[in-house]
Amino acid sequence: MREEQNLKLKRIYSGLLRTALFGVLLFLVSARVKGAEPLVLVIDPGHGGENLGAEYEEYTEKDMNLIVAKAMKAELEKYQGVEVYLTHDVDQDMSIKDRAVFAGEKNADFLFCLHFNSSVEHNLFGAEVWVPAGGEFYAKGRSFGILQMEEFTALGLYSRGIKTRLNDRDENYYGILRYCTEEGIPSVLIEHCHLDHPKDQPFYRQGDAQLMELGRLDATAAAKYFGLKSETLGVDYSGYPVPETDVPAQLVRPDKTEPDLCYIEVMEIDQETGDATVRIDAEDKDSYILYYRYSLDGGNTFSLPEEWPRPEAWNRSAKSNSVTLTLPFDQRLSLCVQASNGFDVWAESNSIALDPIPDPERLRREEEERQAAILREAQKNYKEITCAPEEQDASADVMPVLLILAGIGVCMLFVSLVLAKTIYLLIKDKNRR
Ligand SMILES: [Zn+2]
Repeated sequence: MREEQNLKLKRIYSGLLRTALFGVLLFLVSARVKGAEPLVLVIDPGHGGENLGAEYEEYTEKDMNLIVAKAMKAELEKYQGVEVYLTHDVDQDMSIKDRAVFAGEKNADFLFCLHFNSSVEHNLFGAEVWVPAGGEFYAKGRSFGILQMEEFTALGLYSRGIKTRLNDRDENYYGILRYCTEEGIPSVLIEHCHLDHPKDQPFYRQGDAQLMELGRLDATAAAKYFGLKSETLGVDYSGYPVPETDVPAQLVRPDKTEPDLCYIEVMEIDQETGDATVRIDAEDKDSYILYYRYSLDGGNTFSLPEEWPRPEAWNRSAKSNSVTLTLPFDQRLSLCVQASNGFDVWAESNSIALDPIPDPERLRREEEERQAAILREAQKNYKEITCAPEEQDASADVMPVLLILAGIGVCMLFVSLVLAKTIYLLIKDKNRR
């Protein structure tokens, strides 16, 4: 009886042990499989086929996006444990939704949508990263965006920021971000730079090698974000400090209100060069100041936008900016400035009326002309004296004539005295004999 009980217990224990061992084994195997699962990254070259994207001079965006995307893929494939797909690797039409669905089918961990930009007035420049407007995907997009922007600014591109954009239904404005969010895939839309601005053109105009370099930078940012390692490249980004972004409780809305402060003061004007030192104070409490531009005609026309300093971080602008403006001479001017925030919303400053600055070149020319006129007048007078004495004033003639006559008189008197003395001596001598 007792032996039977012991046997039963033994069986139960060994059964439990087997189950426990099997469980541990299953856990280890599943963890191992999970650990070996590659990271799946999908790259979407923006536009394609009939959809050309931005066009400027000989540049067409869809072609550039494809070159950058292929280079990004090639670079990422140098890292271990990563599978990379392009939504399309030839120039073809593809709907935005199909691109997100493709990423969904691949079980993508992240989608990078690559673009180049242009602006309506051909006056904006810089790189920007658009991210989903809320939740975990906002946090992931922004953290990646910071790394991406570090690559861009190190190259010399100007950061337009990492931003969200909503349509009038409060959904992500960019279809690729909207559909990827629906598919449950984190995503970003990268606008590398502008095709239609001279400040951005040096970053791609030297040919395909430069575009491929942009793709390499995109890949480096992704490798840092995912902590990838590459024996080929000899880099190890495991443990790379990825900037943290809190998951926002609400939608992160774009800043649609204009900067809170935009004020100017003229500090100094160099009368010789026309250079005016102007201090601009500008601030946007919701975002940051991105550009400034100035007007000399009271706000009717403006200069091209210029960079605003952001020395601390991409999203913290300096409050004050001292700039030198070269003013035109001889014009009555009305100076004012506009400052924009990161979402291209502009605020205008006070206006300052400036009296005309006399053109120093014109003043010199006028002085030379005045001197020349004096000289010409003097020469004219000299000619008149020597060539036409009859026209001279009679009173001015009398004195020299009188002097000459007086001289002749004195001479004649002297000669007469000498003659008289000689005659007297002759007569005296004759009488003595
Ligand atoms: Zn585009």
